[in-house]
Amino acid sequence: MSDRWIEVADRVWARRLEELDQTLGLVVGDDCCLVIDTGISAEAGFAFATAIRELTDLPWQVAYTHDHFDHWFGTSAFGESSVWAVADGAHYVRFGDEQRRKWVAKYRLDGREEEARQMGASRLVPPNCRVQGAVGLNLGGRTVVLRQVGPAHSDNDMVVEVPDAGVLFAGDLLEQGAPPSYSSAFPIEWPQAVEHLLGWKPPVVVPGHGEPGDYWWARAQVRDLAEVARLCAEAAQGFLTEDEAAEHGPFGPETMRTAIARWKELTPPAPEPLPQPEPDRTPPAPVVIYDFDYQIDMRP
Ligand SMILES: [Zn+2]
Repeated sequence: MSDRWIEVADRVWARRLEELDQTLGLVVGDDCCLVIDTGISAEAGFAFATAIRELTDLPWQVAYTHDHFDHWFGTSAFGESSVWAVADGAHYVRFGDEQRRKWVAKYRLDGREEEARQMGASRLVPPNCRVQGAVGLNLGGRTVVLRQVGPAHSDNDMVVEVPDAGVLFAGDLLEQGAPPSYSSAFPIEWPQAVEHLLGWKPPVVVPGHGEPGDYWWARAQVRDLAEVARLCAEAAQGFLTEDEAAEHGPFGPETMRTAIARWKELTPPAPEPLPQPEPDRTPPAPVVIYDFDYQIDMRP
């Protein structure tokens, strides 16, 4: 598969990438366009920007659905522009370096030296416009909503709603073709966050990885996310063993184990029990048994 566009609604596109089966987005208004996520490196961002220029020559703004490297390492290709995100620039700078070290090492380990080099050399662009709650962004003739969500897949999730076209760009809150990623997630809160988002019943839902789906597909995935939350809670309370929970997880054992591990990481250990007073060792007072010897005459 090579990278391709899917027009999911009037002037709303999903860009499907071979790399990580990722899905980036583009919403075009009359005056400017909004780019949703930018890929794993400056090179990937440049390829995306070039593809966008085949569709529109309007100026762009950029939105980050969250801080994971594959969603924002490509932004330097877009030059100076407004970049919207939930977390602030300082967070992105700090977390970006951490992510870069981790993923460059991983790509190298996988023998993908060229991609590792590109990622290592990409200039990271932290956001300069902050989204808290919701922001309506007028692209000219159409307004998109940037909405803070969660914590769910991460602690800084944001989705993009295009109400006039009935499209929801869900970032990694939903995934098609692969299990959702729980490594920095909030397993208990995640399903509620997505359920809330689906309240307006968007006909088209674009995940951060995989093919765009519809409302019913998204709703089915929320059920599975809720099942993960339930299994985590029951394993934590000892109703189930972790093995049982892993075996019955809707996204497979590996994802379920990651979710349980993450749940434990987020849940502070139970407080130490208070010291109990020494048990009273004096022998109990003798029990006196009264033995009554009587008969009741029931005859009339
Ligand atoms: Zn992610």
